[in-house]
Amino acid sequence: MKQAQFDAVIIGAGGAGLRAALQLAQSNVKVAVVSKVFPTRSHTVAAQGGINAALGNVSEDNWHWHMFDTIKGSDYLGDQDAIEFMCREAVEIVRELEHFGVPFSRLDSGKIYQRPFGGQSQHFGESQATRTCAAADRTGHAILHSLYQQNLQVGTHFFNEHLALDLIKDEQHQIAAIMSLDIQTGEYHLLRANQFLIATGGAGQLFRTNTNAMINTGDGLGMVLRAGLPLMDMEFWQFHPTGVAGKGMLISEGARGEGGVLRNAQGEAFMQRYAPKVKDLASRDVVSRAIAIEIQQGRGCGEHKDYIELDLTHLDPEMIKTRLPGIRDISLTFTGQDPINSPIPIHPSCHYMMGGIPTNLHGQVLTKQDGQMHALPNLYAIGEAACVSVHGANRLGGNSLLDIVVFGREAARHMQQQTQLGSASDLPLQMQQVEQRIHKWQRALSNNASPNNTPLSANINDNADSIYLIKQDLQRIMEQHCGVFRDAPNLAAGLPKLDALAERLNKVGLEDSAQVFNLERVQAFELENLLALGYATLHSALSRQESRGAHSRVDFPERDDQAWLKHTLYFSENHRIDDKPVNLSPLTVDGFKPKPRVY
Ligand SMILES: Cc1cc2nc3c(=O)[nH]c(=O)nc-3n(C[C@H](O)[C@H](O)[C@H](O)COP(=O)(O)OP(=O)(O)OC[C@H]3O[C@@H](n4cnc5c(N)ncnc54)[C@H](O)[C@@H]3O)c2cc1C
Repeated sequence: MKQAQFDAVIIGAGGAGLRAALQLAQSNVKVAVVSKVFPTRSHTVAAQGGINAALGNVSEDNWHWHMFDTIKGSDYLGDQDAIEFMCREAVEIVRELEHFGVPFSRLDSGKIYQRPFGGQSQHFGESQATRTCAAADRTGHAILHSLYQQNLQVGTHFFNEHLALDLIKDEQHQIAAIMSLDIQTGEYHLLRANQFLIATGGAGQLFRTNTNAMINTGDGLGMVLRAGLPLMDMEFWQFHPTGVAGKGMLISEGARGEGGVLRNAQGEAFMQRYAPKVKDLASRDVVSRAIAIEIQQGRGCGEHKDYIELDLTHLDPEMIKTRLPGIRDISLTFTGQDPINSPIPIHPSCHYMMGGIPTNLHGQVLTKQDGQMHALPNLYAIGEAACVSVHGANRLGGNSLLDIVVFGREAARHMQQQTQLGSASDLPLQMQQVEQRIHKWQRALSNNASPNNTPLSANINDNADSIYLIKQDLQRIMEQHCGVFRDAPNLAAGLPKLDALAERLNKVGLEDSAQVFNLERVQAFELENLLALGYATLHSALSRQESRGAHSRVDFPERDDQAWLKHTLYFSENHRIDDKPVNLSPLTVDGFKPKPRVY
């Protein structure tokens, strides 16, 4: 095993991890960034629309209005101190990104271009605001590449294509190291440090149909659970109504805007039953729920009756080619069908994880002991992996890119002060847990490896269970039991199915030989994390007996502020659920009291 020592170790090289790393490296903190993919392949690269800031370049704007919109969008579950902080910092942080070299699109005046997005308003809900700063439709790409280049300049140390496995405590129960697997060589590395930051992004891979990258498996959340710490608000997942069925890539609302119609297996244009006035152009949550009902009631299309169709075949082919070329491209590439001649199979697609690792304003990870919340001294979390919570029960488009840079910078500033205070622990480490995991998958490898390392394909047994099959079943179970629409019996019925998967995961062998790129071993470690998040999600969703934001309970259709204006906390030990109050007191202004959420 190789060993190294740093002041700070950051797990994750997306926008969040890179913004934090830059801050630390600039102030001469010896910082290492561990990423399971090359940094510029992190999911931040896929963000298109933009980043919110009340610059007021196109129409009058104010951070206070942005704050109100974010709180209302969160269905009042967001913490108002964190939301105020984020919205106030937004203007300055976008300018800073510009100075880092992000090539924002421009207005004729030369100022940064901004576009209107859903849920944005002027004067606290009166009229549409124009707040989303964009670099064409490649904003995440531009931000991620600029931050990576800045990091190269200041000498941040990168461990690329390293899979972080676990946080390791010393004998005084302080986090003192992490273990990682060099994916290419199969070697393990022990990285000791004083401060640790988790920036491992989202976990959309928990659901069969999602818009996320394959790498979004919630590894940081799994590590936190195994360290005995809680996750917060894991029942809240944002679903976009029209993803490609079984694959998930987004088919933009533009397709319906141009006249596309959603149809069930009977060919019925069913949206008129759910939204007689606006039909297919109802808001995202309404359309997602309608699709879920059609499938649940047996009117889904295909052999498994598990998707519905977006029909563009009645539209002018020339119009499709000129106005919807990107959508036609996606359909041709991922379904093999030309939407000019045949409908696109679609399904609501899991897009964003509102829950995550609970933190305070400075990104310090929180836990609850003896009824009290308290912050860990040297463990931080930021970005989609964290729940600070600025998105509450529903995230507004353009607020996630903002979240990752604002809290990336803030957490690093806080760590910087702490790093000056202490040095890394050199006490003996508690290695049992991580060693067990390593040995488990090492054994699974050797059980399956043939005596003389026959190449990969020769080991494959068609009837054997596999990591791939278990992951597929997990994704299908989560979609069936905890999709857009939830109720107690269906949620509860998902739990024994997860138990069965856990048993299969204990017995399964790996088909890689240790001689090749260690992809299946990586997937095994990832699947352990995803399964842990499956439990967290089902238990949290069962506990919350109300409908709020993205969490839609058929058996409790109303929002219940009396009983449920609070965050859920999930601990993996005995699947215990606890809670944490919502902070309704901002930093400098009056709080916004919960009101019915109508647009
Ligand atoms: C298709 C799509 C479009 C989007 N569009 C927008 C938009 O227009 N505006 C907006 O505000 N938001 C958008 N979002 C959301 C936003 O892009 C993400 O929430 C945000 O970029 C997440 O950044 P992050 O740094 O937290 O994580 P990521 O960018 O996902 O980075 C995670 C990092 O963690 C590393 N990692 C994970 N696990 C491990 C491990 N075990 N070991 C080592 N490294 C690990 C990965 O290698 C990666 O470097 C979009 C999301 C998607 C999927």
